[in-house]
Parts: sequence; C-alpha cells; structure tokens
Amino acid sequence: MEVINKNALGVVFVVDQKDKLLGIATDGDIRRMLLSGVALTDSIEAHINKEFVFAYADDDFNSIASKIDERIKIVPVVDKEFILKDYFKVGNKVHLPISAPTLNGNEFTYLTDAFLSSWISSTGAYINRFESEFANYCGTNFGVAVSNGTVAISLAFTALKIGVGDEVIVPDLTFAATINAVMHVGATPVIVDIEEDSWCISPKAIEEAITTKTKAIVVVHLYGQVCNLDAILKIAKEHNIDIIEDCAEAHGAEYKGKKVGSFGTVSTFSFFANKIITTGEGGMCLTQDKELNQRMRMLRDHGMSREKKYWHEEVGFNYRMTNLQAAIGVAQLERIDEILQQRRAIENKYRDLFKDSEFKLTFQEDLKDRKRITWLTTALVHNDREKFIAYYTEKGIDIRKFFYPLSSMDIYKEFARKETPVTQKISKMGINLPTYNSLKLSEIEQFG
Ligand SMILES: *Cc1c(COP(=O)(O)O)cnc(C)c1O
Repeated sequence: MEVINKNALGVVFVVDQKDKLLGIATDGDIRRMLLSGVALTDSIEAHINKEFVFAYADDDFNSIASKIDERIKIVPVVDKEFILKDYFKVGNKVHLPISAPTLNGNEFTYLTDAFLSSWISSTGAYINRFESEFANYCGTNFGVAVSNGTVAISLAFTALKIGVGDEVIVPDLTFAATINAVMHVGATPVIVDIEEDSWCISPKAIEEAITTKTKAIVVVHLYGQVCNLDAILKIAKEHNIDIIEDCAEAHGAEYKGKKVGSFGTVSTFSFFANKIITTGEGGMCLTQDKELNQRMRMLRDHGMSREKKYWHEEVGFNYRMTNLQAAIGVAQLERIDEILQQRRAIENKYRDLFKDSEFKLTFQEDLKDRKRITWLTTALVHNDREKFIAYYTEKGIDIRKFFYPLSSMDIYKEFARKETPVTQKISKMGINLPTYNSLKLSEIEQFG
C-alpha cells in the first residue's frame, strides 16, 4: 500500500530479486486480501494476481497501446525473460501531439482577475487592452476582437459590403475556413493556384482570375510563410480590389520589416488553441481605417448604432469575444517573442535531425523580403510521405498531412476555373510536425 501511495498508479508490480515479474495487485486487491483475513505481515506473493495483461518491450507502439481499454488502464512491459522493464498506461496513446497550448505565463492570473471583476461577458478592460496591444504589435491603428478567426474574415467582407454577386479570390491550399467565410456572406469564391517556392497564393494566378466582378483577394500567409505582397498589392491597386490578409497561421511574420496584418484593407487573425497565441477560441480584425473600424464594431454587435441604443443600422451579428478570453490573450501576447523563438528552435532541431533522412525532407524556404515564422514545422517529404507518416504514427507521434486542395472537394470544386497543378503536387507531399512550446528538444530526439 505504501508503494501504491507513492507511485500514484493504483497498482503495484511484484518482482523477484532479479526483477522478474511475478504478478500485480491493485489497491482494491489489497483491500480485499485484508478483508479476507490476510495479515499485514504475510508475504503478498501468494495472493497477487498472476493472470494479467502484459506487453513485450519490443512490441510495436500500436500493439502495446491496443491492450489498454475501459477495464485495463495500465500494463506492465517485460522483456523475453519476463524481467519488468516499464509500464504503459492510459493517456500514452499519443505521446507527441501535433500541438498544445502553453499557458504558463500570466494567463491564469489575468483570467482570475477578469473573473473576479465579474466582467465576464464582452465588455471589460481586457478586451480593450487586447485589441489595442495586438493592433500595436502588428503596427495597425485598430483591432476588433471577435469570437473566432472564421467570422473575422466574414466580418471583413460585410464591412466592405462584399456579398452576393461579388467574386473573391482565394488560394487552393488553405484551411477551409478561408473559403467558408467567403461563402457565408454569399459571395462567389474563385480558387487559384499557389507559388512553387512559398506555397502561398500566386500573383500570376490572381491576375489571370480577375474579372469585372472581383472585389477582394484573400491572401493566406500559409504555415507561417509570407505571401508575395508587393506583387499582389500592385495587382490589387491596378484593379481597385481589396486585400484581406488571413494571418491565422502567421502571427508575428514580416514583409520588408513590417508585420503581416498591416498590409490588407482588413487583416484577420485566429486565436484557436493551436495557433501562435491563443484565447481558446477567438479572432481579430485589424485595419488602419477609422471608418472600417467603426463599421466592424457596429456589425459585431448586432448592427446596433454606437450612439443610439437599440437602434439598428444594419443586419448585424453577435461576433463578440469575452473579457475572459481577452485576459488570456493579453497574457499570451506578453510572451509572443519568446513563443516564436522557441518554435524556431524546434524547427531547427527537426532540420538538423532530418538532414540526411532517407525520406528526403525539404523545409520551408526563407525568401527574400519575407520573414516567416514557425507555426507548425512544415516540410515536404520527397521520398514516400505515406511511409514516413506510418513510421512515426507507429511511435505515437502525431504527424499531419497538408490541407487537401479545396478544389479536390465536391463542395468547392466548381469554384476552381483553372487547373491548380502546384497545389495538387505540394498538397500530396507536405507534412506538419509536432510544434508547441512545451515540446522539449530532447523529445524530438525520438525521431532519430
Ligand atoms: C485556423 C484558421 C482559420 C480559422 O480560425 P478559427 O479561429 O478556427 O475560426 C482561418 N484561416 C486559416 C488559414 C486558419 O489556419
């Protein structure tokens, strides 16, 4: 019982002098032994459970993990001589997740402060602070906090009066939220191909897709990489089209020394739990334009007049963020530089480890004028992606494939007017590797 108390596993493994496993007993087993008359001074060996589930140390990860179920929460791991080597318990099914938030700065302090203030809804000091501090960090005048990164994109369109009958150009390789936001406002998405080097939207493809109906281009700074902004801004200016920067995966990235999010007519961010900084769920629209800022605030809050309560100027939404979420956001933003540095160190470790790998990995390029950040470490596997993923999945490491081309899905197909060969190719090769701030560099050694 003392051993169980100490190991906090609810079970004790009984071994002989040579560490050979004899049996196991749970705290319940010991209680039953005592109740049935076994004395505290008796040897436990005669009473322990000798028929138990176990695993061999050289079994593969999946077969060990498959022994865990509702009833069996822990299994001893032995070698061929039945010497106890280790144990495996529930919760170990994936031991390196793709992503996990780290909340070990002032997050809890600020969250508690917001809670105790009783300003738990969408008014409060942390909302104002988060909006102005994040806008300031990105170099824009205004920030409008919203409930997630998808509605941030929709809100930008509604504020710009883009909707039914208008066309919006989007890249084929992105998370579906980008195109969903276009469709939610009734506009028609036009899917175009990406660049070969950055895997972001191609200026050439944009130019070919422009029609008299084109009202906006959503440029997605994909996997922390930065779009070819000068070329895209030039096209937008020539055709009098708005740029929406979808920065959900690129907080802190820069183009020619200026932060992404400061180039678009409106720029949008997500603070979902797997992004660079998080508020749990959450998003923000940034703009330099005073009028757009006011319109977005009005639309975010049911389209209500900002001067006259309960007077609605437009059919608006409830897209508000809570003060509790913003409190977490303020604390996360305090650490963003450190977060970005640590993620880069993780990426560098992977680069080093896979330098001579038989799978032939190439990582994201550092391109002229573009200072990308590491969101999830991103690479192309040139020699058998499926085998690479299967190999590491077996070890309990969560590796993700790239997004599928939007144009490959039935619901979006019709919106690609041209072939997108680069997206097709890159999407089949790309992977994301576990990247999060509590991931230790020593844990990455497991990839060797
Ligand atoms: C995460 C993400 C979004 C959407 O953000 P949510 O907060 O989950 O709604 C939009 N665009 C891209 C590119 C994303 O990665």
